[in-house]
Amino acid sequence: MDENTKRFLVNQMVWLGIYFAISLVISILIPFPYSLVILIGVILGLAYWRRRRFMRQVGSAGSVFGNPFGSKGIEYYCMNCGTKHNKISCPNCGSKLKKAGF
Ligand SMILES: [Zn+2]
Repeated sequence: MDENTKRFLVNQMVWLGIYFAISLVISILIPFPYSLVILIGVILGLAYWRRRRFMRQVGSAGSVFGNPFGSKGIEYYCMNCGTKHNKISCPNCGSKLKKAGF
């Protein structure tokens, strides 16, 4: 079992404990039919929050490995006169036709 799996399992156990504690507190404080409704709301809210946090982690990791052309960039050449440019239309002849080169 590697570190990541272990950390994931520990994380799951912690969250299980948190859910258990929350359900215990709610069922003590609030009478039955209402406690169930509030419990479901709290669990759904926590699940939503966890997923958003997870997405943000994945998102920030994704931007690091994100664009394979990021550092170098694709260069475009005018198909009409061959001028290298990154504009929509060629600064030399105004043609909008261009091809990508590396
Ligand atoms: Zn041109």
